[in-house]
Amino acid sequence: MTIAVKSYAATSPTSPLGLFHFVRRDPRPEDVVIEILYAGVCHTDLHVARNDWGWSQYPVVPGHEIIGRVTAVGDKVTRVKVGDRVGVGCMVDACRDCGACRKGWEQYCEKGSTSTYGSKDRVDGTPTQGGYSEQIVVTQDFVLELPGKLDLAGAAPLLCAGVTMWSPLRHWKVAPGSRVGIVGLGGLGHMGLKLAKALGAEVTLFSRSPGKEEDARRLGADRVVISADKAQMKSVAGRFDLIIDTVPYEHDLNPYIPALATGGTLVLVGYLGPLQQTPVRTSGMVVGRKAIAGSLIGGIAETQEMLEFCADKGISADIEMINMQQINESYERMLKSDVKYRFVIDIASLRAQA
Ligand code: NAP
Ligand code: ZN
Ligand code: ZN
Repeated sequence: MTIAVKSYAATSPTSPLGLFHFVRRDPRPEDVVIEILYAGVCHTDLHVARNDWGWSQYPVVPGHEIIGRVTAVGDKVTRVKVGDRVGVGCMVDACRDCGACRKGWEQYCEKGSTSTYGSKDRVDGTPTQGGYSEQIVVTQDFVLELPGKLDLAGAAPLLCAGVTMWSPLRHWKVAPGSRVGIVGLGGLGHMGLKLAKALGAEVTLFSRSPGKEEDARRLGADRVVISADKAQMKSVAGRFDLIIDTVPYEHDLNPYIPALATGGTLVLVGYLGPLQQTPVRTSGMVVGRKAIAGSLIGGIAETQEMLEFCADKGISADIEMINMQQINESYERMLKSDVKYRFVIDIASLRAQA
């Protein structure tokens, strides 16, 4: 079976994404062939398309919030069947045998997990390519089952934005009575508000943008703090057990440390890189046993757990549906925080393109 697909790829850090034809790998006995219906647009897609982190290989087909329909399965596939609605997130494989994998932390695989795009397939070494494409071939253990109640397009962003927030909320044991802060109201941030609220926490949004207050409250925030306003920041001093910071670019972490309660943790999920302009002052951490930590997406089992939780609680992402051909303008809008709160590509528009 040769699976030739249309996709949208970046071919250099500066070229807009455009139509790209390639061939998916021949399905192996444990592989699932998925016709892609929807693909969420994560800020990571933009970082990788534009080589913000310095390791992008071209051409790259971004997209790791994938919802689709199973169209074929290999002989050894038992978990899903043809016709099932399924999801694929940020990983398509891992070693499955190291200490991290055995704990269900495939994203921290000690041999390196295989990313949905921008990695090499563990068996044949070909580049992995993501969800801005018509079909994908994924080994069954990295395919997520979609509970029937979930809205398909609104579920796409759960596969990255959702689980990236869910994993730290669960790891730091957020429960009724917890006080949680979310920094930045974008794709990740809006899922953070919804999930933290549904776990029973008191939730605060920290934002640069005064215009987002009403939306934040609708999405689950009990309070909105404008991060540039010193008086507002002071009013929440010592309050938070956990703050999850989704800001994608270098920014000053120092204002958030006083907002942590004693023993609290500031978890970074957005920015990767040095803090050159704004070094962290450690005294507030030492004096209050406060931590700055990082967190990467979530494992397969916890992604499945999050999907079940969202189905039970009626949670999905707030999306703006776009056609594949609008991807470049959507990236520009995402850079201006002009999206409420996640773009999702209708892959039918790619299928229809000549
Ligand atoms: P997004 O939709 O663009 O949202 C980012 C939000 O951060 C914005 O809405 C804005 O919120 C705030 N922000 C943006 N630029 C800022 C700046 N220069 N200074 C201060 N605040 C700023 O992005 P996303 O898809 O949520 O992704 C956020 C980051 O997480 C990206 O860097 C992405 O690569 C990363 N990510 C990490 C993981 C992981 O596993 N760790 C997974 C997925 C994504 P306000 O206007 O409310 O301030
Ligand atoms: Zn992502
Ligand atoms: Zn491993």
